[in-house]
Amino acid sequence: MVESPQIEEAREALRRIYGFADFRGRQEDVITRVLARQSTLAVMPTGAGKSLTYQLPATMLDGTCVVISPLIALMHDQLRAARANGISAATLTSADADWRETLDAFRAGALDLLYVAPERASQPGFRDLLGSTKLALFAVDEAHCVSEWGHDFRPDYRQLRPLMDAFPHVPRLALTATADAHTRGDVLTQLGIPEEGLVIAGFDRPNIRYAIRPRDALGRQLAQLCDEQTGPGIVYAPTRKKVEALAEQLASATGRPVLPYHAGLPPEERAANQAAFVSSEDMVMVATIAFGMGIDKPDVRFVAHAGVPKSIEAYYQETGRAGRDGDPAVALMLWGAGDFAQARMRIGEVDAERQQGERQRLDALAGLVETPGCRRAVLLRHFGEHPPETCGNCDNCLEAPEMIDVTVLAQKVLSAVYRTGQSYGFGHVQKVLTGADDERVRSKRHDQLSVFGIVEEEESRLLQPVVRALQVRGHLAQTDHGGLKLAGDVRDILGGAIKIAISKPPERTRSRKRRGDT
Ligand code: ADP
Ligand code: ZN
Repeated sequence: MVESPQIEEAREALRRIYGFADFRGRQEDVITRVLARQSTLAVMPTGAGKSLTYQLPATMLDGTCVVISPLIALMHDQLRAARANGISAATLTSADADWRETLDAFRAGALDLLYVAPERASQPGFRDLLGSTKLALFAVDEAHCVSEWGHDFRPDYRQLRPLMDAFPHVPRLALTATADAHTRGDVLTQLGIPEEGLVIAGFDRPNIRYAIRPRDALGRQLAQLCDEQTGPGIVYAPTRKKVEALAEQLASATGRPVLPYHAGLPPEERAANQAAFVSSEDMVMVATIAFGMGIDKPDVRFVAHAGVPKSIEAYYQETGRAGRDGDPAVALMLWGAGDFAQARMRIGEVDAERQQGERQRLDALAGLVETPGCRRAVLLRHFGEHPPETCGNCDNCLEAPEMIDVTVLAQKVLSAVYRTGQSYGFGHVQKVLTGADDERVRSKRHDQLSVFGIVEEEESRLLQPVVRALQVRGHLAQTDHGGLKLAGDVRDILGGAIKIAISKPPERTRSRKRRGDT
């Protein structure tokens, strides 16, 4: 990092303009580089204060900072905030009526910040407009959108490089909250930023306790969480229908105020529910992932996932809504093998060139779910950090799972699926393996198979977790009718070259099922 005498000046401006005592995290490093006119990619989690890293230099540097931002709503939020701090800023979007004034101010060099969408920036006339005044900086927000590896590819971002190349002396600052190593490398290349320009800020959220468990009694598992974590919480469910059903179930099981939130509700109701949640101290919001963006509620005590999120990035973002006040909070993911099976099926339906990236994203998520080690370490490594092996504040660190080798049982499962014709569901396969006295098994002559009855009684309780592990790893898939079929390469498992281990499931305790458990 180069020494910059300007950073003291910047600190002074930070206090004067924003009233903040000091820089946070790696803001100082990013701003030092920007003031030295060095192109930079800042990877910082949401809420770390990325906007400030271009806004503040924009007020100090000679010329205008052009900010590329993908959402009009976001731009207008930023605009309001910048103006409230006395920074001279404007937006050029389809929603603005003051284009003339903005263009005049821009050409006159009177703007510190000009916000535009990538679609606008890629129009031919825009380059001429930029040439009409002095530029201080290009800031590219949500920079992962430039990468096809990112989860949010926006083709217009690809036009930014030629635009910026036309102004080779103007430094670039790309910003993103979500970039795994691959996407990060891609962003650097696509936006022409040197590798040494990468600044990664700490992603750790030490007050969040991560826990990831199979979903065996969703209603009961969530009700228990609501009992243990008394403050406000968010439960993410995969579909609108699930949201409605779970909200009802939790309301009656917990006696807490519970509201639903999803894109299918009328806008007024959504707004009302959100407002009620923000001001409540004990409400549970059951929602699709449509909920949470831009919501400022620091005292959320838990975030639960009733199904697997889309990726590790999505998981981090969604769980990151818990415990913003720094007090202890819980992130609980309740996953089912079917979640992974379905996700793998959906990957088969996307464009061929995106499949590899999607598959890697899902494998990374499966790695997080399956790890017997520290969850936080897996998360932070994914974001390019070098965390300690254990954190002491995740399920696996607090209670190390006992691992058991189930390779032989996995081989038996795969053979049974194969020999019964790869079309039967778990129940049938289980009956065959345990040698159940069953009419359907007999009528299909599956009692004649070599795999009939090869699994002992005490081993049989491991069958479900083994099938789950095989599904998560993509060795078993679901047929259109819910049956099991082999997938990927299973030879190494059948040959014994790959061992399968799972964490030992808890001893089965007799418990009364609550009504409506799924
Ligand atoms: P990001 O874009 O990284 O998600 P924002 O730029 O929206 O984050 O900043 C998040 C919040 O943190 C804002 O309310 C901002 O004013 C505040 N903030 C940023 N930098 C500092 C700082 N150095 N000290 C205190 N608060 C800060
Ligand atoms: Zn841990």
